[in-house]
Amino acid sequence: MKVAVAEVFPEARHRLCLWHIMKKIPQKLGGYGEYKVIKKTLKTLVYESVQIRDFEDGWSKMIKNYSLEQNEWLCSLFDDRKRWVPVYVKEIFWAGMSTTQRSESMNAFFDGYVNSKTSLRQFVEQYGNALKSKMEKENKADFDSLNSSYKFLTQFIIERQFHESYTNAIFKLFQDELKGMLYCNFSMFKTDGTLSTFHVTDIFQGKLGRRRVLYTVSYNEANCDIQCSCHLFEFRGIVCRHMMKILIDKDVKEIPSRYILSRWRKDIKHRHYYVTNCYDDFKSGEQVKKFDQLSGNFYEAAHIAKSQEKYEYLMECINMVKEQLTDESNWGVHYVTKSTRNLLSPVKVSEGKEDNTMQDQRDSSLSNMPLNKVNSSSVDMQTTTSINGTISFDGNSLMGNYSFSLNH
Ligand SMILES: [Zn+2]
Repeated sequence: MKVAVAEVFPEARHRLCLWHIMKKIPQKLGGYGEYKVIKKTLKTLVYESVQIRDFEDGWSKMIKNYSLEQNEWLCSLFDDRKRWVPVYVKEIFWAGMSTTQRSESMNAFFDGYVNSKTSLRQFVEQYGNALKSKMEKENKADFDSLNSSYKFLTQFIIERQFHESYTNAIFKLFQDELKGMLYCNFSMFKTDGTLSTFHVTDIFQGKLGRRRVLYTVSYNEANCDIQCSCHLFEFRGIVCRHMMKILIDKDVKEIPSRYILSRWRKDIKHRHYYVTNCYDDFKSGEQVKKFDQLSGNFYEAAHIAKSQEKYEYLMECINMVKEQLTDESNWGVHYVTKSTRNLLSPVKVSEGKEDNTMQDQRDSSLSNMPLNKVNSSSVDMQTTTSINGTISFDGNSLMGNYSFSLNH
């Protein structure tokens, strides 16, 4: 399976289920005289190692102390350690799926809907039912999140910012991080221009009791980039207490939106809403079709934009379109035009090499826009990266049907 996954999904990170591995401990190690101590040591290593070095050194000691060199199960687990031990997988986003509970996996999604006797035909129907139930639960959670309030723990504006965006469940996890800040202390380790590195100590309550753990947080004042060696943000998408400690000390009033993942936002519908199932009526089917067309075009453009320059250019265009689409107050007044609006390549604009037809098209479409928008678009075009090509937006109706193409 490992080989097949690597071949079919080369970009995917394949992980083994920690819950199933730990469940096998009694069966695989139960025969050893010192089973209880081995089990405790193994669990501590797996769940409490902060650094890779801690895990590897501790593992070697455990194997040596309890003469486990010949245990094939442990040997193969060590060979595969990068696929299951939390300390190796925490640098990658898993949406919190990790770790100890089977219920966090896909099993929970299908629980009550399919079993070992479900036929393929029944599976397709039940998949629709499971999806519908998930949507209903999510709608309820979003409704609750939008219509109930949480008590704030602090006066920090950041807490209010997260409350406005997060669903209740995620906001509660964030508040746990805020509470955890009480146990953290920090000191400046080094500074280099706008980049500062801090040492943050935290108190960790593990099986072996309380102990102090040291994390490293790097913070770039210029762009508010922040990273912590605990990797909670990379792993779960939640800003950790160590990062919060520094952000608050630095008097950051508002955290950049990149630190609020869209998957945790209560005001965003997720992609599975666009998956067709047997409950879709004609209208929602149309929506799905539109979504598929848009996704296909974006996917194509993303594949073309392989170089750094093309990537940056495409990102800038997408961000500009997103901004326009979400600007409800100006929508339909400034942005919807009957004619196609061509944005010329920054190279062409700066070098003045565009042909007259394109220049005319741009002039006529831009003339429909207010002066401030025209100016900002012009500035954007001249400061974006140098790609030859055009991007066109065809706004035929208020609801969309936009074609998005990148020509070379
Ligand atoms: Zn952290």
